[in-house]
Amino acid sequence: MKASLLTAARATLEAERRRLTDDLAEPLDTPAQMTYGSQAAAASEVFAQQRDLALRGKSGKGLDLVSGALARLDAGTFGCCLRCAGPIPDERLEVLPWAAFCIACQQLEKDGR
Ligand SMILES: [Zn+2]
Repeated sequence: MKASLLTAARATLEAERRRLTDDLAEPLDTPAQMTYGSQAAAASEVFAQQRDLALRGKSGKGLDLVSGALARLDAGTFGCCLRCAGPIPDERLEVLPWAAFCIACQQLEKDGR
């Protein structure tokens, strides 16, 4: 794995952790700051929003994922699938630095197997 990827992953994870911590500290009835319409304009924004939703789907879950990934960075096991211990592809980690599973295992987890 490229050293630059690790550096970038750590920066992203630390920023996400800060953001998610702030989010969780906010009162739940805070109105959404951005409407879906304005966010849907560009594909990259749509993707960012999907990523956001995935992280925020269950309260605190995103923070768990991000914290787990930071712990793996510290432990030197970042990029290893938690299920099969195989390598998670760099391209996946670039987009989802908190990914805990390789693509095949992610699918199995999703299917509940
Ligand atoms: Zn795996």
